[in-house]
Amino acid sequence: MKIQEKIIKDEILEKLELGNFYKILNQNIFPLLNEQELSFVKEVEDFCLELAPTIDREKDVYVLFPKLGEQGFIQRMNKYKDFVPYGMKYEVLLATILSICDPQLDLARLASGILCGNPTFQHGESSEISKVQADLMEGKGIGCILITEPERGSDAVNLLTTCEKADDGVIFNGEKIFTTNGPKADYFVGYGVYNMKDPRGTMVQAMFKKEFGIRTERLRINAVPRVHIAHSILEDVKVPYPYILGDDGKGYNYLFDGLIPERISIVGSTIGICWNGLIHGLIYSNLRKQFNKDIIGYQGVGFPLADLLTKVTAATMMAFQIASIYDDKILFAEKPSKEIEKWMASLSSQIKYYGCKLSHEVTYEVQNHMGGISLTDNTLLDEALDASKVEEVIGGTRNVQLLIVKNSIRRMFKSIL
Ligand SMILES: Cc1cc2nc3c(=O)[nH]c(=O)nc-3n(C[C@H](O)[C@H](O)[C@H](O)COP(=O)(O)OP(=O)(O)OC[C@H]3O[C@@H](n4cnc5c(N)ncnc54)[C@H](O)[C@@H]3O)c2cc1C
Repeated sequence: MKIQEKIIKDEILEKLELGNFYKILNQNIFPLLNEQELSFVKEVEDFCLELAPTIDREKDVYVLFPKLGEQGFIQRMNKYKDFVPYGMKYEVLLATILSICDPQLDLARLASGILCGNPTFQHGESSEISKVQADLMEGKGIGCILITEPERGSDAVNLLTTCEKADDGVIFNGEKIFTTNGPKADYFVGYGVYNMKDPRGTMVQAMFKKEFGIRTERLRINAVPRVHIAHSILEDVKVPYPYILGDDGKGYNYLFDGLIPERISIVGSTIGICWNGLIHGLIYSNLRKQFNKDIIGYQGVGFPLADLLTKVTAATMMAFQIASIYDDKILFAEKPSKEIEKWMASLSSQIKYYGCKLSHEVTYEVQNHMGGISLTDNTLLDEALDASKVEEVIGGTRNVQLLIVKNSIRRMFKSIL
């Protein structure tokens, strides 16, 4: 988007270019990565540096999906075609780097590639699902996930969307809200139950195609205007059996197993938003002068930035480490142990809680340390702050993450009874 009225000095604006953000990011993350990870980081950054000048920030993000697809960047958790390397650590790196370039694009990519795409790798056995997967991964088709309902948000167990078996498919009736990408989507991973009194035993996970009859109405979400988010209505929508991914209760396990990689992937985006915000402050405060002094020289600016850098480094290390452990112990493990899965559920909630809250703190605080300029369109900081609000809610609110962590504390105590 063209700046409406430029008030920032040229010499500061030119330092706020994406290449400098990556130079500073790299100094902070390179010691944490091996050779293969380093070259992947370089590949994604080079891609973003080419992409950035082509982004029209007045247009929806979806026009950029095919470009992501060409490079295998719709997701990197699962192996698709010859796009290597892959795994959760690479997915987190991809999200981090892309969120510095364009946090709204990364949000929509994640909803399509991970939230909708993941089940096609984990539970898709039919040729129909392979076609959906190819369409999603190439960025030609757009995907989304339908969990949240008007009366069932944090409580994703007790769904009100119902299912009924027919000869040639399962019929869904219900209402979903906050469907990221929904109004633009070709594919929807959705959940319903045969018996509301027994959601665990009867939940179904299905892949809906738009043409099966889902109706979507766009919600106005001011924080991410380039991403379309829907109220989705399922009225006697029949899903043929080849598109049923988990029937008769399997849907419940798939939903909750899926939340762990989804949350770790969201953390990749939030770590990117943290660095996005912090680097804005770091560059600007070294160039902006007041009272004849660089503002970083004032303790009121320099020390809080140092405090934020410390927290962001800690969150980044935690996120990378959790992603690596997820790869070793779950994604690439022959038979992940139940203990590891429980531990990972708590850990993914801990970093989702901490990383998302931190991304808001960093962008909000840096805005204060930069002063008025960061509220204008002369920098991209305000967009990052807005995106951080969404990251906190999507994938479960702060309290829901704490609820999961609190449950793990109870389990720990029970182990010594
Ligand atoms: C921009 C955006 C995009 C989204 N994208 C998607 C998507 O693509 N697909 C999808 O399915 N959903 C999506 N969501 C929905 C999101 O996951 C939910 O908003 C979230 O799970 C919370 O549900 P709720 O909004 O109904 O809040 P509620 O569940 O009503 O919660 C309200 C408040 O109560 C607290 N609370 C609730 N239960 C407890 C508890 N047991 N203990 C303590 N506190 C509690 C919550 O933390 C929150 O503070 C999106 C939401 C937004 C805003």
